Amino acid sequence: MKTRLLALTLLSLLSLPVRAAPAFEVTVLGSHGGSTENDLSAYLLRAVGQSDYLCLDAGSLLTGLKVAFGTRAAEVLHEHVKAYLISHAHFDHIAGLVLNSPEDTPKPIVGFASTLDTLRDCVFQPRVWANFTNEGPGATGKYSLQRVKPAVPFDLDGFRIEAYPLSHTKDLVSTAFLIFHGQDALLYCGDTGADAVEGKPLLAAVWKRVAPLVDSGHLRAIFLECSYADPRPDNLLFGHLTPKWVLTELHVLQSKLKNPSRMHDLTVAITHIKPLAGNPRARIKDEFDRQNSLGVRFVYPQQGEKLDL
Ligand SMILES: [Zn+2]
Ligand SMILES: [Zn+2]
Repeated sequence: MKTRLLALTLLSLLSLPVRAAPAFEVTVLGSHGGSTENDLSAYLLRAVGQSDYLCLDAGSLLTGLKVAFGTRAAEVLHEHVKAYLISHAHFDHIAGLVLNSPEDTPKPIVGFASTLDTLRDCVFQPRVWANFTNEGPGATGKYSLQRVKPAVPFDLDGFRIEAYPLSHTKDLVSTAFLIFHGQDALLYCGDTGADAVEGKPLLAAVWKRVAPLVDSGHLRAIFLECSYADPRPDNLLFGHLTPKWVLTELHVLQSKLKNPSRMHDLTVAITHIKPLAGNPRARIKDEFDRQNSLGVRFVYPQQGEKLDL
């Protein structure tokens, strides 16, 4: 009887999908897009076993750190956050960084030239805030602005990173950061509209780049925004996605795979939900549950949560 039970247990274990051991740990400092100033896009990323973090966008910083780390919040910010990767300079992606800059320790801010020029010229600009960058009038030099070029890999704190442009309305470039640690990779997308709405094949280029990583199982997760629930007319998306457009884009990714069923192994973290009336998180989750013919594993990061990916 015992042997049969053991055999059955082993059989059921063998039939479970095998997930590789986590390669990354993401701590959610904030997950919303707009309005809730204490819970805006900001994600700490580290490789499993490492003590230092990259901060992907920094909408809510110390508030999120307090939720995640309690009394260690300031220590983590000052000693363990080694760099900021900023997707674009909208307030909901930089407010925490700006407000904490007087007490912060020196570190680089990494992004495209258009993002960092905006930060320097429109934000860290003495009439708005003291200039804690290393460029322009009154520069204190605390933050070194490190401009990166599309698709050109660069090394940062043990990671190899590539940045790709995204379209976030006609005139604004946002960023997708593809972050490698060894062979493992994680894709963090800032705010973006769908290619068909924005009229530019920028997400298609990102999907083409990551498709081989999905095929090989090395892409551990995609962080992708979904600001609004369906149905919302395309002319009111303002460079954002809905469940319909997220799924459309993920189908494009699937079409580029050698083995389309590898989508089943993929984790997609849904970010930047706008805190509108009703319960948009529940609505969006419900819409993905009903339409997820790809079998993707959707997760919905919440402030303070740690994701093992
Ligand atoms: Zn945003
Ligand atoms: Zn934005």
